[in-house]
Amino acid sequence: MTPPGAFHLPAASDAVTAPVQQAYDRYERQAGRWLGSYEARGGRVFCGAGCFQCCNMPIRVSLAEALITARALDPGQEVAVEQHARAALDNARTARDDEEYVRRHRQEVGFCPLLDRATGACTQYAARPTRCRDTFSAFPAVYCEAGTWEKMTRRERAEYRREVARTPGTDGEWHFIAPLEHLSEPVWVAAARAMRAEWNLEVWGDFWLLTTLARDAQFMERVARGDGRGAWKAAAQAGLAHPALLEIGD
Ligand code: SF4
Repeated sequence: MTPPGAFHLPAASDAVTAPVQQAYDRYERQAGRWLGSYEARGGRVFCGAGCFQCCNMPIRVSLAEALITARALDPGQEVAVEQHARAALDNARTARDDEEYVRRHRQEVGFCPLLDRATGACTQYAARPTRCRDTFSAFPAVYCEAGTWEKMTRRERAEYRREVARTPGTDGEWHFIAPLEHLSEPVWVAAARAMRAEWNLEVWGDFWLLTTLARDAQFMERVARGDGRGAWKAAAQAGLAHPALLEIGD
């Protein structure tokens, strides 16, 4: 593994990250317009500065997005992100199913190390991945908090469902704002196209794992050569390969 602070993005990565960065910028403009008209029609979004209850959810990203975040980290954050990736891996190795994986990720692996718990701010706001950009809540933060759903009685769950069903902007099932998630689809498409064009393969997976692997010279060299099998081996040598958290497809 590359020592903290010693990482330099290979030049070829810019051809992968630039289209994603442009797609982020487009998303921010479109989402801003959508939110303006939603609020003008009486819609309410509860997300804001200092609110971080969703920052302990597992996050799936492309390697293109992870490269953008990796480039922005300071050496202390590189170490913290790798520790978080290894905790996520331990969870993946021992969780009996997806439900247990997500529950333990939120409650035991815990909050993203890029979160400043004192202020509730994302310390890498400009370099955060798509999922962090397109998650908006139409309900107060307590409904995003880990464990809230599990603690709700059957009656409270029925009331929650009724409230979600009558709240515009949700998908009718959960309290997140669905059109803002759909609006980010071009970001995923841009990432997939850019990876395929530059590397002839796509790499997707856990946010912290890929942000760590983006700093691994051996892994990135094999990805740049389109050598998916070699990239998997390099990840395995670094102790960072698990099929639930790393997908390399050609
Ligand atoms: S990158 Fe930022 S917004 Fe995303 S989970 Fe981490 S702290 Fe939260």
